[in-house]
Amino acid sequence: MMPCGLMSKPEFRFGSALSFSFDIQHADSNSLARVGTINTPHGPIQTPAFIPVGTKATVKSVLPESLKDLGAQALLSNAYHLYLQPGPDVLDEAGGLAKFMNWPGPTFTDSGGFQVLSLGVGFKKVLAMDAQTTRHDDVIAGNKDRLAHVDDEGVTFKSHLDGSMHRFTPEVSMQVQHQIGADIMFAFDECTTLHNTRPYQELAMERTYAWAIRCLDEHKRLTQERVGKPYQALFGVIQGAQYEDLRKKAATDLGSMESNGQSFDGFGIGGALDKGQLGTIVSWVNKILPENKPRHLLGIGAPEDLFVGVENGCDTFDCVLASRIARTSAVYTMEGRFNLSNSRFKRDFTPIDSECDCYTCTHYTRAYMHHVFRGKEILSATLATIHNERFIVRLVDQMRQALLDGNFADLKADFLGRYLHRSGQARD
Ligand SMILES: [Zn+2]
Repeated sequence: MMPCGLMSKPEFRFGSALSFSFDIQHADSNSLARVGTINTPHGPIQTPAFIPVGTKATVKSVLPESLKDLGAQALLSNAYHLYLQPGPDVLDEAGGLAKFMNWPGPTFTDSGGFQVLSLGVGFKKVLAMDAQTTRHDDVIAGNKDRLAHVDDEGVTFKSHLDGSMHRFTPEVSMQVQHQIGADIMFAFDECTTLHNTRPYQELAMERTYAWAIRCLDEHKRLTQERVGKPYQALFGVIQGAQYEDLRKKAATDLGSMESNGQSFDGFGIGGALDKGQLGTIVSWVNKILPENKPRHLLGIGAPEDLFVGVENGCDTFDCVLASRIARTSAVYTMEGRFNLSNSRFKRDFTPIDSECDCYTCTHYTRAYMHHVFRGKEILSATLATIHNERFIVRLVDQMRQALLDGNFADLKADFLGRYLHRSGQARD
């Protein structure tokens, strides 16, 4: 791999293909896994693929050139954060998210629903849900200090930045995401938690269904209004928590949904996903969703979960974990996950992972990483993030190749046998 290319200049590929498509090159005969290509106006994404998260139009501490060099094919940003700052009109004026952040490839934005309902308001864990007053939902939805209020039309919420009040509806989410200009957008949905009651999950799913139709309509209107802009694909989001009937109903309804001739270009699988049931839930959904459209597993990125997602038919993944834990000195390696600030690395002059080809591992030692973390040097975040993102991107790339070579099961057994075994011993 090329070293971190401070001198390389990203090239934008605007206008080469204004449409969106998904081609499947190979379907695994032993599982739901497939190998394909998502074509976007900003270039292709070879799938399965891991998409690093740049929440506010930056993957914290890492240059876009470095992300390109480590093999990232696309980035995902958050509509909620970009709506609050700098504002979607700024991104529109800049020529869209990719150009604004100097990223020479495809981009995704989530709808803002998850952040509105969990992150922004979750700082105080006071998510208010007004329709049901059962005890379980009350645990999440205290009446005091509510920062988000859900109704059938949308969500009213308080900015986590300055306390100002805002309102997201399906239409507003589509307008914001069209202005931000990512290649792949997600429909506005109500994201619930595992702690919500079954009646509340049903209600939230009905809302998500109604909002999905409104998203399709507004998406079509905006696509026509913003003629000449690169086409932005819209993915519907499958909710339903841990309930088989709800997940299957959501996949059936959104998979076949069409409004005014507009249907979803792909799908996100979102909401509350119990780690132990991840494969089961994803397989319920992916056995129903149209085979010829891409499926994105939202917010999942731990190595063991990526294997489960791929073998159960997911094409793309995003997760903030790789960069977030890197900033706390935690790194993924074939020897499991461990913390570089641990004193046992003070005189360890080997790379973070001797099998890793990233810029950090080819130029720095664990002892140096230990030093910069202990000294709270900014460089620690940059170097550790480059390694972790490369580790996860490369792992999913290896899964893609293994599917083509017909040895996915061997890769999975080999990787997890080493990674999980060592993680149990080495995690600190
Ligand atoms: Zn590395």
